[in-house]
Amino acid sequence: MYGLGDIAVNQFEHAADLLGLSESMRKRLSLPFREFTVQVPVLMDDGRVEVFLGYRVQHNGARGPTKGGIRYHPSVDLAETRGLASLMTWKTALLDLPFGGAKGGVGVDPRALSNNELERLTRKFTERIALALGPYRDIPAPDMGTNAQVMAWMLDEYSSKRGYSPAIVTGKPVGLGGSLGREEATGRGVTIVMREAARDFELPWKGGTAAIQGFGNVGANLAMILHSEGLRVIAVTDIEGGICNTAGLDVPALREHARKAGTVAGFAHGDPITNEELWKLECDYMIPAALGGVLTKDNAGDLQCRMVVEAANGPTTPIAEKILAERGIPLLPDFLANAGGVVVSYFEWTQNLQQMRWELDEVNAALERKMIAAYREVQTVAGEKNVPLRTAAYAIALKRVAEAEQMRGL
Ligand code: NAD
Repeated sequence: MYGLGDIAVNQFEHAADLLGLSESMRKRLSLPFREFTVQVPVLMDDGRVEVFLGYRVQHNGARGPTKGGIRYHPSVDLAETRGLASLMTWKTALLDLPFGGAKGGVGVDPRALSNNELERLTRKFTERIALALGPYRDIPAPDMGTNAQVMAWMLDEYSSKRGYSPAIVTGKPVGLGGSLGREEATGRGVTIVMREAARDFELPWKGGTAAIQGFGNVGANLAMILHSEGLRVIAVTDIEGGICNTAGLDVPALREHARKAGTVAGFAHGDPITNEELWKLECDYMIPAALGGVLTKDNAGDLQCRMVVEAANGPTTPIAEKILAERGIPLLPDFLANAGGVVVSYFEWTQNLQQMRWELDEVNAALERKMIAAYREVQTVAGEKNVPLRTAAYAIALKRVAEAEQMRGL
């Protein structure tokens, strides 16, 4: 199977060829700056000790402190974390944020842990990577399997030894210095980029149809915002199953159901659907918002959508991307489409450092400006160079990081 690490390397090489980067600059931009693998022993509720493996990869910090999420999922390993860390470097550069890229995680199924076990795991992992972190060094955020509560534990663990440090993580609860609008920021950012692209690619907006894999932070917030914009969300799946209603799902009611049931499966107002069946649905926007590597050579030919929107990180394998291009299905690339989270994380970090609070409308307006500017830049370069949006986005990001590396010297 094509892993996320392979996907990132393949995409990087393609863009580096386009820019004609020297061999040494390719190495400086592709190899991680430094990486940590740590042992995470956890006292379980039944008295056993389980030992997990945790990772933090700081891919590149030429443009600022490294920034990137913490993932709790059984698939987390060093290769996947490296791939995701590099994606963060390109994402922060593309959005022109004063950050580099990092990623971390623990190979664990968080659903199998009690709340107390999850807290102990988070505290131990934080303690073991703490020497790598800092408001001006490396700033984690939530990703798959983690949330604001996990960030609160990280903040507390770090601050208890080093003094109160709210800027050490973003995506915190608002009561602990989190930013208004951070929780829905990734979904909101995806919506903004989709709306711009809908105009350019002449796709329907109000009344248009969308299908989404994943109903977590990104998928659920995105579904809610698309629904409120007047699109029809016709299907949603998660790890347990899925639900489909071609007339359009009642997303607020679905969210209520998922809150209680822990899954979208079993929602009354629709028909059950599997994750495999989801890809075959006829719709305007097909939106993977869960795992990486889900669009493959085996299902890319089945897609009946008019655009793929990568809300997840790395959902499309290179072969699938080629098949989609041959079929004339445009793709909004992950590190543009899902950058809203890190943009508002940046706003959160600046609010913490300045000890200031922004109103929600200020956050959303600034997010909108950032996302539209990045999309327009990518679209312009794609038109000028006659390349897909992903290649254009890479070209912009790689150039910025290469220039920063060059200016900082050896
Ligand atoms: P989350 O943990 O909140 O939700 C993940 C969702 O994916 C859940 O609904 C889960 O059931 C589903 N899922 C997990 N395994 C699955 C499987 N095998 N088949 C089908 N569904 C499955 O995670 P999230 O924060 O929403 O992140 C989702 C994606 O978006 C990830 O790729 C993440 O890297 C990316 N992303 C997240 C953020 C953010 O701010 N949280 C920002 C940018 C990108």
